Amino acid sequence: MYDKLANDLNIKFKRPGLLLVALTLKESFYRLAVYIWAKIHKIPVQWVSKGKLKKMEPNLTPKAKGGILFPTAGIVSPYEVTLALAENAITNGVKIAVNTEVIDIIVENNQVREVITNRGVIKTKFVINAAGLYADKIAEMVGEDTFTIRPHAGTILIFDKKLQGHYNHIITRIPLKVDPRTKGGGAAITVDGNPIWGPNFRENYDKENYSTEKEDIELVFKKFSELLPKISKRDIISFFTGLRAVAELKSKSNKNEKESDFIIGPTKIKGFINVAGIQSPGLTAAPAIAEMVVEILRNEGAKLIPKKTFNPVRPTNPRFSELSLPQMDEMIKKDAKYGNIVCRCEKVTEAEIVESIRKGATTIDGIKFRTRAGMGRCQGSFCLPRILKILSRELRITPEKITKRGGNSYIVCCETKELRRQNIERN
Ligand SMILES: Cc1cc2nc3c(=O)[nH]c(=O)nc-3n(C[C@H](O)[C@H](O)[C@H](O)COP(=O)(O)OP(=O)(O)OC[C@H]3O[C@@H](n4cnc5c(N)ncnc54)[C@H](O)[C@@H]3O)c2cc1C
Repeated sequence: MYDKLANDLNIKFKRPGLLLVALTLKESFYRLAVYIWAKIHKIPVQWVSKGKLKKMEPNLTPKAKGGILFPTAGIVSPYEVTLALAENAITNGVKIAVNTEVIDIIVENNQVREVITNRGVIKTKFVINAAGLYADKIAEMVGEDTFTIRPHAGTILIFDKKLQGHYNHIITRIPLKVDPRTKGGGAAITVDGNPIWGPNFRENYDKENYSTEKEDIELVFKKFSELLPKISKRDIISFFTGLRAVAELKSKSNKNEKESDFIIGPTKIKGFINVAGIQSPGLTAAPAIAEMVVEILRNEGAKLIPKKTFNPVRPTNPRFSELSLPQMDEMIKKDAKYGNIVCRCEKVTEAEIVESIRKGATTIDGIKFRTRAGMGRCQGSFCLPRILKILSRELRITPEKITKRGGNSYIVCCETKELRRQNIERN
């Protein structure tokens, strides 16, 4: 499904393949078992001998005894997919209410009627509960108290692009036991060429705690440097921690909670559909989940008529950094802002930043996710003040009002002279 989506939406999608590597005798034995299991389940798989493995991945540890390759495993950028789908939906007439919090849901005669938000009331007969970590709270609003969402943290390390080509597949060790809570992570390469390692798995029952612990970084680095020992910690340019929304079903006594698979389906409240507990691999499964939800909506009584004018294609401009020199010249002749490189690491131009603001970016991260400005080696220390100025100019607001990611994540508080004046007044 992703091949068609990527083509229509102009998003980057690569299939580097997943390479499972055996480092010990026990793993070599399991390697055979996994290979046979994949063959039985008709999953495309290839046996990789020690010699072939060395040719495929010369920087792999010499301890590698052989591997198996799942050639169809692919990679996309989660934020590129999300933004592309949202842009295409808007083009086709969908209204997206951002910064809008659902506070309550009104049910009458066992049927959904209204959604109360902090920005007004939405009258509707159907609600799809896809609220991630807060799907349990949304379900409680209609009296569906059947599951709890437990956040489970996972840390990912991002490496410098200069390592591009150091390895070419998604690589991990042969698993000796299957943990349903995690696929075990891997050493992958983003669609933009940064090696990434992780995630690990840590229980963390705070839905707002995205902090990264030193131990998480150590653990992830140790796990994958056993496979790729030439990569140094100094090549890490950034790291982050995400929270998986793991659903736990409540038993009738509400005492024993049992970890659950995705919870997708109608509920006892007509028109209220759960798409909850979408932990990993939720991004991979999303297009298939969407098709399931269409059928559920139909069964719930929604009249779904295919839109004749629906346009699945999202036109995009190629990134300036990916153009040839004559093409770059051509662009600069058309718009001089292409001649001003704002982010040096990722070679992002002023014209691309202005374009992303016109497409809806209002924060520093909004620009970062659309253009990659700030994602390079220096992590925005050069371009951040410049982007702040452009945002301020284009949105016609003062820099103090600009945030990194909405809420209270302000970047600057006031001008230095103003700060001095305030201090004098206070003293
Ligand atoms: C570290 C990590 C690694 C992962 N790796 C992979 C991978 O390799 N492959 C893969 O397929 N998947 C992966 N996943 C899983 C994938 O990211 C998730 O499955 C996916 O993001 C879930 O999407 P969702 O739309 O269900 O939830 P979310 O993306 O969490 O979206 C839920 C939305 O609901 C909003 N919301 C919540 N409450 C309210 C409210 N009251 N009012 C209004 N809005 C509300 C939130 O703001 C949020 O925008 C990974 C996840 C993590 C954490």
